[in-house]
Amino acid sequence: MHASGYIRPSALVALLSSLLPVLPAAAGSGQPKPREIRVLVVRAEFPDRKMELGESEWKREWGTLQEKLADYWKRHSYGIIEDIPMECTGRLELPEASTNYFDVQELRKAMRRAAEKEGYRLSEYDQVVLSYPSIRHNISFGGLGTPGTVWLPGSNPFDGGYIHEFGHALGVGHANAVEGDGVPYPGEHREGRDGLFMMGSEGQGRVGDYSTINLPMRYRMGFVGDDHLERAKGRGVYRIYDFERERLAEKRTLGVRVEVEGKDFWITYAPAMADRWSRFNAEGFERGVLLHELRGSVTDILDFTPGSQGTGSTADFIDTRDGALQIGTSFAFPGTTVVVEPLKTGRTGNWRWIEVGIDTGK
Ligand SMILES: [Zn+2]
Repeated sequence: MHASGYIRPSALVALLSSLLPVLPAAAGSGQPKPREIRVLVVRAEFPDRKMELGESEWKREWGTLQEKLADYWKRHSYGIIEDIPMECTGRLELPEASTNYFDVQELRKAMRRAAEKEGYRLSEYDQVVLSYPSIRHNISFGGLGTPGTVWLPGSNPFDGGYIHEFGHALGVGHANAVEGDGVPYPGEHREGRDGLFMMGSEGQGRVGDYSTINLPMRYRMGFVGDDHLERAKGRGVYRIYDFERERLAEKRTLGVRVEVEGKDFWITYAPAMADRWSRFNAEGFERGVLLHELRGSVTDILDFTPGSQGTGSTADFIDTRDGALQIGTSFAFPGTTVVVEPLKTGRTGNWRWIEVGIDTGK
């Protein structure tokens, strides 16, 4: 059990890969329509294990948690998530002792059945959140999310954990990093180690509001459509605008996608990260770009200063925070003729941008 409320990445990968349904194609053309996400919170306890919090205290805690969740996702979805209205069941008792819910799927089924018996129609909700006293499961976690379901054991689930698990419930996996051997790519896969973003599995609780959602994941969740993206062709210079905004009233290019040997790479610009991560030598975000591979529901960030903070330890987790691709340098994908070269930054009104030369070699 991790204190700050997230699952060990290895366990999560196993679970996600077994549960992730085929998602509808993300976004598509045009700007997506705002929507509400309706949540039912099912509260249950076991004959041998009761809720730790009293009714009114629980409701107060949950109200606060839900408000933080809705606020975070509204602000990080360009307002596409309009609201996350929540309903709660009363306190339900499951028929069997807690030791019979070792399997998280069995617990899910039992809690859904208990709610249905009380008259809740689960098909009317987009997400079902399971709140129950901490018990022993077949995998160790503080919180867990898959499309449609969030498990939050314990009496006071950590808010960062809930926000992160909700991302899994909305259909994205972890923000990973690629690093190692002194080269940015291809390096070693590091699960959840993209410390810049909330879907990195480490630090998301501690960093809370610092942590945003990267652009490929926003696309994957349907918060931004193809009309805010370009695909690199031939050789050209692209102006890429800061994607960290609360609304997208104007049409701007927020990311350029480059295909490299069948893989989908994204070039984006997030200068505000320089301030947020200032204690990590992160000023490079103002004059550099982020480069992610989008691979199904997960992203892999390329770290352009591999090994700058040591290898194989938690230091690597913060390593991506000095790792943007900088003006004055360029990156050629090994074994290809694809080259990315940040050129200059500027500002149009209140939009900050960076120009990037891209040669796709085609
Ligand atoms: Zn996770």
